[in-house]
Amino acid sequence: MSVAETLGFFSGVQFYDHPSFRMACQQFDTVAEHLQMPESDRAWIKFPKRSLTVALPIQRDDGSMEVFSGYRVQHHLALGPTKGGLRYHPDVTLGEVAALAMWMSWKCALTGLPYGGAKGGIACDPRALSATELERLTRRYTQEMIPFIGPQIDIMAPDVGTNEQTMAWMMDSYSVHMGHTVPSIVTGKPVGLGGSLGRREATGRGVGYLINRAMDTIGLNSSQATAVVQGFGNVGSVAAFSLAKYGVKIIAVSDVNGGLFNSKGLDLYQLEKHVAQRKTVAGFSEAEPITNEQLLATPCEILVPAALERQITEANAGKIDCRILAEAANGPTTPEADAILDRRPEVFVIPDILCNAGGVVVSYFEWVQDLQSFFWTETEVMDKLFRILEGAFVQTLNTSRKRKISMRLAALSLGVKRVQEAKRARGLFP
Ligand code: NAD
Repeated sequence: MSVAETLGFFSGVQFYDHPSFRMACQQFDTVAEHLQMPESDRAWIKFPKRSLTVALPIQRDDGSMEVFSGYRVQHHLALGPTKGGLRYHPDVTLGEVAALAMWMSWKCALTGLPYGGAKGGIACDPRALSATELERLTRRYTQEMIPFIGPQIDIMAPDVGTNEQTMAWMMDSYSVHMGHTVPSIVTGKPVGLGGSLGRREATGRGVGYLINRAMDTIGLNSSQATAVVQGFGNVGSVAAFSLAKYGVKIIAVSDVNGGLFNSKGLDLYQLEKHVAQRKTVAGFSEAEPITNEQLLATPCEILVPAALERQITEANAGKIDCRILAEAANGPTTPEADAILDRRPEVFVIPDILCNAGGVVVSYFEWVQDLQSFFWTETEVMDKLFRILEGAFVQTLNTSRKRKISMRLAALSLGVKRVQEAKRARGLFP
């Protein structure tokens, strides 16, 4: 399909062109058809409201100067400020960030949060930068973003390649500019700076909770289930530990350097120590090495893609061998792969905008706690998180069963419809 065809008549958005953006647009078009959305509403609801591209010159530790590209996309403004992560990865582009911002909108609406979606990123390899270089880059990016962000405008959080420290630098740079401390400018910051208890673990624990609900739904016994996790980062590692607590055996994991397999189950505590020392799962002695391709086709009950977009494609969707596909990553499954999965009813899909929503839900709790300067216990946070995820899971499942549509189409149509209703109720501005 040509770019113009996928993007529709609003050719002004061609600067977002990217495989993930085309994928997000294709998903939206399917939902719009399903909802019988008037043609005149479609471009208005689909395309991002605004975006900013910035040049980020920083001094490297060797004294040289290098310029990086940074992006931020705010998808819609109808329900409140925008909210979404900040990604540091060499492949970040404006189009990828725009796709991630769209998915954030549907996710926030599905879970009933008062936000539009946003996403940001810097095209860089954080593993090739020192801590001081990362700090300079983060502060420079924050400085450039000041006219575009704010606790009532747009709030960032960690994503791939960023963490609590990144958020602490952002919060400090913004606060220095404002002349007073503003914890609510970011979420996912250290607890000592106004972060929420449970935020770091929220996405992975939410994934574990929803997989447990899916196991109940399809009648799978957790103590007899095995799981495979692609991406052993923040989300994947916490999801693995969470599944192990439910009694599931983790037989394979991977990261950007490759995977590991042990049919008897991996010792996650030993693996965590190994990763803390070596910064990779590769070389862990108590397992056999496998490739990421082999990992995705490993027979298991639960497959958890927790790395990047577009991992499950037309080429491997027929080969995945699981009962539950739990999309911890954003956009891990392409629409072509979806068409194949639609013909495989034995695979229960927990779509990304539901599966990984725990992160933004607890980010919302963090923002609320910061605004009122009144902090909750971890038990309160987790209890409130699971209630919201439970509601979203039940609504998605009921919609899927009632309308005889996939879990993805059910989740997306619930989210898109809420954004459409908010925009229609307000008028043309947001
Ligand atoms: P992270 O940087 O902590 O971890 C990413 C992991 O994926 C790393 O282990 C990395 O080595 C691995 N990886 C990268 N490329 C890979 C490849 N080609 N094959 C296999 N593994 C690869 O990032 P994260 O925060 O855990 O995010 C993971 C996914 O979850 C992303 O899609 C992100 O958008 C999504 N997500 C994150 C959050 C959050 O709270 N951090 C919330 C919602 C969704």
